[in-house]
Amino acid sequence: MRYAFVTGGSRGIGKAIAVKLAKMGLPVVINYRSNDDAAQSTLSEIEAVGGKAELLRFDVSDPQATEEALSVWEEKHPDDYISVLVNNAGIRRDNLMIFMQNEEWDDVLKTPLNGFFYVTRRLLKNMLTHRDGRIINIASLSGIKGLPGQTNYSAAKAAVIGATKALAQEVAKRKVTVNAIAPGFIATDMTKDLDETELKKLIPMGRFGKPEEVASLAGFLASDEAAYITGQVVQVNGGLYT
Ligand code: NAP
Repeated sequence: MRYAFVTGGSRGIGKAIAVKLAKMGLPVVINYRSNDDAAQSTLSEIEAVGGKAELLRFDVSDPQATEEALSVWEEKHPDDYISVLVNNAGIRRDNLMIFMQNEEWDDVLKTPLNGFFYVTRRLLKNMLTHRDGRIINIASLSGIKGLPGQTNYSAAKAAVIGATKALAQEVAKRKVTVNAIAPGFIATDMTKDLDETELKKLIPMGRFGKPEEVASLAGFLASDEAAYITGQVVQVNGGLYT
């Protein structure tokens, strides 16, 4: 059976994507790092609407933990494979460059960027063998435009965009597509400390986006209808930057 796998799928944008993919009929593996309650609640929400999901807790920035967790999953699922991978896990540690600490740089690089590498490399082989795969990387407006106070985060997201374009060309012949979604400001736990009233004045649509508005694009990119779309970066930002 074909599965979907969403890193950081327990909260925010990842949660909305997990719900969307489950509603499309895919069983979903929900990865998260530490918040068991949020993960359990997302699982219950999916099951309540008749979807199928399971939880897989590990830190995507830890290569050994990633290898172990995915090996255990594969042992439990000898007849299944992951055909839709959404690399969504990410964190922010904003600071001006002049004050930025090594840990702030390293932590923000290693979750979305190293996490993308460890998880994708591990799952790619089965996609290539089955000649069926959809890889969707959640980048950011910050990785396209750059945002002050986010040199670490902008660097990580720009790198994910570069990797998306390179990998798309490597695997296109095997019917595996690789695309990135670059959201603008989306209302989640990650943005709740921001001054929404001030920031939304900058957004032509005059509001933050909803996680479901990112998830609908992820659902399309995961579908058969998007088979000829690869190596693209699609922005979901209310017109903030194009
Ligand atoms: P969020 O609400 O903070 O949720 C983050 C999710 O990622 C949680 O499920 C969290 O799990 C998980 N996670 C964090 N580090 C992890 C790790 N090392 N290993 C495994 N899981 C990890 O974030 P969000 O706003 O939904 O953002 C999701 C993605 O969209 C991120 O890549 C972010 O950079 C990107 N994005 C967000 C916005 C925005 O405005 N919100 C805009 C552009 C791009 P736990 O709960 O267990 O910690």
